[in-house]
Amino acid sequence: MSNSIKRIVVYCGANVGNNPAYKAAAIEVGRTLAEQGIGLVYGGGGVGLMGTIADAALAAGGEVIGVIPEALKALEVEHKGLTTMHVVPDMHSRKAMMLGLADAVIAMPGGFGTLDELFEALTWSQLDYHRKLCGLLNVAGYYDHLIAWIRHSVEVGLVKAVNHELIVHGATVHELLDGLRTRPFPLAQKWMGR
Ligand code: AMP
Repeated sequence: MSNSIKRIVVYCGANVGNNPAYKAAAIEVGRTLAEQGIGLVYGGGGVGLMGTIADAALAAGGEVIGVIPEALKALEVEHKGLTTMHVVPDMHSRKAMMLGLADAVIAMPGGFGTLDELFEALTWSQLDYHRKLCGLLNVAGYYDHLIAWIRHSVEVGLVKAVNHELIVHGATVHELLDGLRTRPFPLAQKWMGR
């Protein structure tokens, strides 16, 4: 069985970080999504890894949809060359619209905003507000500590093991896309309280 993925929302940093692997991965993700005919949904900024991934997808002929809150247009230097840009009133509308437009989620290296978006997608998923898997792109081990913490949270019984399965890990975008397409959504077990 394969999950149909037409669009993916990518959460990533508004900065590039100081490991060049992050930017290289953003370029790889943008290009790969375009090559595979998968539309990119993202925050609409032109800076940091956000701008990099959008530029890479556009350069490879991909569809790129941005969703930016009015107040952040200047701060995140709104990208001017996207296929479609939605300007929304606030951050809550942005996050809901981004997720609503996509079939799956990828979190790349990023800061508080990225983690906020990832965990909102996960918490909505565990409450069955949507059925979209979340991919964690662990570039250069950036998310090793987070992955260890998630395992710990399951071990101590604060996160259900079945909800851990809502997250697909991958070191490369190809590995991640394979996982997002083939992992069965862990719904049946979820409601059996496993
Ligand atoms: P960061 O990962 O902190 O570099 O931020 C990446 C993106 O997350 C930026 O577009 C932020 O606007 C966005 N973001 C989403 N939710 C929040 C939030 N609650 N606080 C701050 N930034 C957020």
